Amino acid sequence: MSSSSSGGELAPSRTSLAALGEWMRTHRRALQGVQWCVVAAYAVLVVAPAFLPLPPGDAHGYDNLVVAAQWLFWGLWWPLVIASMLVLGRTWCGVFCPEGTLTEAASRHGLGRGVPRWMRWGGWPFVAFALTTVFGQLVSVYQYATATLLVLGGSTLAAIAVGFVYGKGKRVWCRHLCPVNGVFAVLARVSPLHFRVDPDAWLASAGRVRTHPVNCAPMVRIRRMTGPAECHMCARCSGLQGAVVLAGRSPGHEIARIEPGEAQAWDAALIVFGMIGLAIGAFEWSATPWFARLRTMLADRILDHGPAWLLADDAPWWLLTHYPDAHDVFTWLDGALIVGWIAGTALILGGFVALCLALASLPVRGMPGRAYALSYSLTPLAGIGLFVGLSALTVGLAKGEGVQLHALPALRCALLAAGAAWSLWLAYAHLKGRARGARLAFAFLAFSSGVAGVLVAWYPFVFHIR
Ligand code: SF4
Repeated sequence: MSSSSSGGELAPSRTSLAALGEWMRTHRRALQGVQWCVVAAYAVLVVAPAFLPLPPGDAHGYDNLVVAAQWLFWGLWWPLVIASMLVLGRTWCGVFCPEGTLTEAASRHGLGRGVPRWMRWGGWPFVAFALTTVFGQLVSVYQYATATLLVLGGSTLAAIAVGFVYGKGKRVWCRHLCPVNGVFAVLARVSPLHFRVDPDAWLASAGRVRTHPVNCAPMVRIRRMTGPAECHMCARCSGLQGAVVLAGRSPGHEIARIEPGEAQAWDAALIVFGMIGLAIGAFEWSATPWFARLRTMLADRILDHGPAWLLADDAPWWLLTHYPDAHDVFTWLDGALIVGWIAGTALILGGFVALCLALASLPVRGMPGRAYALSYSLTPLAGIGLFVGLSALTVGLAKGEGVQLHALPALRCALLAAGAAWSLWLAYAHLKGRARGARLAFAFLAFSSGVAGVLVAWYPFVFHIR
């Protein structure tokens, strides 16, 4: 990972960025004011629309609170938060996120218990992301305010409860259980912004009194911090020991240098099977004609041979989409097919990409750690893919406002191509110092095959969802 004083640092912006970090630290109250304003807006927009009637077909964001909340949460908030991770690291988490603010506040006044062992399990980021993604599809979280309240409100209540029980002024929820913590940590690794720790300056200040007391809410070991994956960019440690500054760095520097011993198997699983496989399955099931054909075929079979309950649409709205007024009701068969489709896509596409990563790692020593390390190179493609997938909601809402994007497929192709090129560049930078000649060519070709497979998998989404 990135060294604190390595060649990846970008010198020109250092001074102004360091000043910005100091400004953020010394204007903590202003930032807290922003955080609580976000909490207030979030509370209104999550709760109120759930108690309003479904919006009529001709409702707009400017005359209907339900549509306005849909715009803010799913049309703007999610795609922009994902994009911000690639540029600003986890500034969203430390400066704006309402769940982070609430869980930390609850933790300040709570029981202060230690973090239990089960919560430290490294698989939570993957499992929480997978469960939330699949459940969100089953209840149509993007389309209905009650489902939004269920998923986001439920997550917020859990964040407050965890904060109340565990830690003292900490963000235990964010660090261990937040469903998007793992995704944000992976994306932040390509961020050109980070709080840089200078180990020499830290050592030189050893034994001195701390410049200011620091409560790092996400519990980062600041002295050993080598990248922004876990840092929420809150700036509280700016200037600490005269060794911590907000600084720029070359995007991708950290990923190009990552060694097998530093790479996490669960991160690799999250990137390959979660952010790529599962996400594409979730974005595409409603767009692909194959899903519709499979559903019709199975429904016909069930009509002839049973069991009939699979075609019943009596599931509650908090388990499967159930909005008869909007003619949108899922049967048990629909639910099973959606879960199967998403899981199947994750396994087939993720399995193919994992195989390509394993092949790409063969000429370079250190399997399986090398394959895990190489998986981080897929971060730009995975992250831009999430942005493209989530922005389908933005496009759908814009269509409702009468805005047509005729160049949409071309725009999506351009974004995904940029993500693919960035990933290939990272993989090449990672491999070139570790293999040469035919070995390098083989490794790069195998990695490129994985990237090509992901691009092919995006085809139905790019050209069929408008
Ligand atoms: S290391 Fe901790 S205190 Fe420092 S900026 Fe990151 S989150 Fe804040």
